Amino acid sequence: MFTSIAGRAVVVTGGTRGIGKGIAAVFARSGARVLITGRDSDVARAAAAELDAQALAPHGEVSFVQADVASREDCRRVAAIAQERLGGIDVLCANAGIFPDARLVDMTEEELDLVLGTNLKGTVLTVQACLPALASSGRGRVILTSSITGPITGFPGWTHYGASKAGQLGFMRTAAIELAPSGITVNAVLPGNIATEGLADLGEDYAAGMTAAIPLRRLGTVDEIGYAALFFATDEAAYITGQTIVVDGGQVLPESPEAMAGI
Ligand code: NAP
Repeated sequence: MFTSIAGRAVVVTGGTRGIGKGIAAVFARSGARVLITGRDSDVARAAAAELDAQALAPHGEVSFVQADVASREDCRRVAAIAQERLGGIDVLCANAGIFPDARLVDMTEEELDLVLGTNLKGTVLTVQACLPALASSGRGRVILTSSITGPITGFPGWTHYGASKAGQLGFMRTAAIELAPSGITVNAVLPGNIATEGLADLGEDYAAGMTAAIPLRRLGTVDEIGYAALFFATDEAAYITGQTIVVDGGQVLPESPEAMAGI
């Protein structure tokens, strides 16, 4: 039996759709007070209203703030609003990320900067801005959304993306050491292919190809990433830091297409 996280103050960046929205939903349904962020305020407003309606009473609630993780000023504003609205931050889910396609041979510097600036620098800026509040919590938790792509696997078009996702784990391992004296743990969830709006943008052929490579024969759901994040946030996970959990339906396991053909 896990100790309830009801009433905890949770920030989820990129919580307005896809995996972040799933993480926010799982926390809200567990009674947490959740602040979601995203760049599009109309989408954020609608998502917060939808998630707030599902939140577990009496503490559960979801609100939003428009913010770009690539901006240090925005990250600081999110931390300040969390302090004002939620009284602090117990859990930070640094989830916001993008995955545009660009082959190495013709990738522009702008494309490289955008992906690294959002996924990697955005993670660092978000964690930095929330540090004082997480330290005050006494049981601060940082949960990164990384990926199997980069840390474990590769896919054409995603050299910059893979570097950003592997970079998050390099950041995590030293941050976990530096922040341990403040009682903050830092861990990462590595999703495989999860059914999100962002993944849908890649097209049906991409989703079908990936499904064929997954032993469990389906894409993951956003809730399934939320449950892994929730585990890292529980009191029972207090002794785990600097670690990863892969949630991918077994996608990284087959050694060859023949390994899949037999099932
Ligand atoms: P998604 O459906 O496109 O949602 C992305 C979310 O991040 C949206 O809320 C978006 O809102 C927000 N966002 C994007 N750029 C932002 C920025 N600069 N500042 C603040 N918010 C920003 O993507 P997803 O599939 O859920 O992916 C979410 C995370 O999971 C990413 O880190 C991704 O790398 C990781 N991931 C996804 C999969 C998958 O299969 N879907 C697999 C492995 C890892 P706005 O656009 O309004 O800002």
